[in-house]
Amino acid sequence: MVEREEASCESCGDLVVAALVQHGSYFTRCTACREEGPATSWLALSQHLSGKVKAVAVGAVFETLEVVAQGEVRQVAHAISQAAGEGKLIRLFQELTGV
Ligand SMILES: [Zn+2]
Repeated sequence: MVEREEASCESCGDLVVAALVQHGSYFTRCTACREEGPATSWLALSQHLSGKVKAVAVGAVFETLEVVAQGEVRQVAHAISQAAGEGKLIRLFQELTGV
C-alpha cells in the first residue's frame, strides 16, 4: 500500500515522508532530510493498489504546482504515469476510505 501507515523517516525520524512517482518509479522521500527509500516500478505497483489517491505535481520543496489526477488509483494510474514520464515529480496523497 501507499504509505497507509504513518511512515517515519529512518534517518531523521520526521513523520512526513512523501510518496512520489517520477519517470516510472515509485519511491518515498523524507520532506525534512530528503532521504529516499528504495524505488520500485510505479506501473507494477499501481496494479496492486486500490482506493483513491490525489496526485499532485510538486516542486523542489514539495510546493504544489498542479493537481494531476484524483480518483480511483487504477483509473488515474495512467495519467500519473504520463505526467511522471514527462519528468514531473508527482506526490501521491492517499484518500482513505473507511474499511
Ligand atoms: Zn528524514
